[in-house]
Amino acid sequence: MSDIYNFSAGPSVFPKSVLLKAQQELLDWQGSGQSVLEMSHRGNFFPIIAEQLETDLRSLMGIPENYKVLFLQGGASAQFSFIPQNLLRGKAKACYVKTGAWSEKAVLDAQNYCDVLVSASSENTAYTSIPEESTWILDAQAAYLHYTTNETIHGVEFSKIPDANGLPLVADMSSNILSRVVDVSQYGLIYAGTQKNMGPAGVTVVIVREDLLGYASKTTPPVFDYQEQAKSHSMLNTPATYNWYLVGLVLKWLKEAGGVDAIEQINKAKSTQLYQAIDQSTLYSNPVAISDRSRMNVPFILADSALDQEFLKAAESNGLFELRGHRSVGGMRASIYNAMPESGVKALIDFMLEFERTH
Ligand SMILES: *Cc1c(COP(=O)(O)O)cnc(C)c1O
Repeated sequence: MSDIYNFSAGPSVFPKSVLLKAQQELLDWQGSGQSVLEMSHRGNFFPIIAEQLETDLRSLMGIPENYKVLFLQGGASAQFSFIPQNLLRGKAKACYVKTGAWSEKAVLDAQNYCDVLVSASSENTAYTSIPEESTWILDAQAAYLHYTTNETIHGVEFSKIPDANGLPLVADMSSNILSRVVDVSQYGLIYAGTQKNMGPAGVTVVIVREDLLGYASKTTPPVFDYQEQAKSHSMLNTPATYNWYLVGLVLKWLKEAGGVDAIEQINKAKSTQLYQAIDQSTLYSNPVAISDRSRMNVPFILADSALDQEFLKAAESNGLFELRGHRSVGGMRASIYNAMPESGVKALIDFMLEFERTH
């Protein structure tokens, strides 16, 4: 097997050492005689894995005591519906900021449960920037303010936490959780699917402030009632056990790599180098306002789209995979999550320069 670099947006690249560790432990987890795949979630061993998972996430993100951490199923997409069902607290309205495809989906689903006030939108500029915060319209009667910290498809990322003017702030961090230091205490709720920056598909992390618990509507399924899941440590029913274990291994890897502080510096360096290469070229371009560019997902287009197929083919023969942009925006996209080594970004830049030179 040859080494390749995988720039997929999700599911996405794992640290190689985590895959090796999982392989090594597959048949026998730490002398238990059991594979994690076989373990009862209520047996002797799995609760150890579960507790370590929460402890490590709390320490990596500095999650305050008055927040619950849940590990649910259904993906971030399920939360688009379960956030209003849990957080409306008898109110009729919620505020949403639209900065790309994912926040757009969150709005559509929330509209089934409440009036959605679109506080700001960059739709009319094809989601290439974040609307100036001073123009946002917030309603003090709303239940919360929702936004997407990193738009995975459009490559737009908030560089600071917006002022929610007293509303509980709710953030979809699916594609940049653990990539930069975040002050959790500024949020009412943070959620993220794990398949971008935390491991495999199949787990959705929900970090929720305790005072927001206990308001789920009567029709909310118990497995998606935050209060119920908090009470049972996310084990109201069978959790995605092996996926929890894999997320746990990724968190251990991140701790050993120096934690979120350290990885943030590396993410900054990786993305800066790639954007510089794009900006200095005449073949490649990125449409996003410089201050709002994502450190995780870097979309770019070729000046002549007739070269797209050839670019992708040549990239693959150089060991660079999954660079095709999302079907809704076209072009290319390099997702460079925590687990993408600096050598992968360097290999991509070298390839892009060579392709430009020869075309
Ligand atoms: C991938 C992604 C989602 C959807 O995740 P699913 O697990 O497929 O439901 C939602 N929001 C953002 C920002 C994403 O990147």
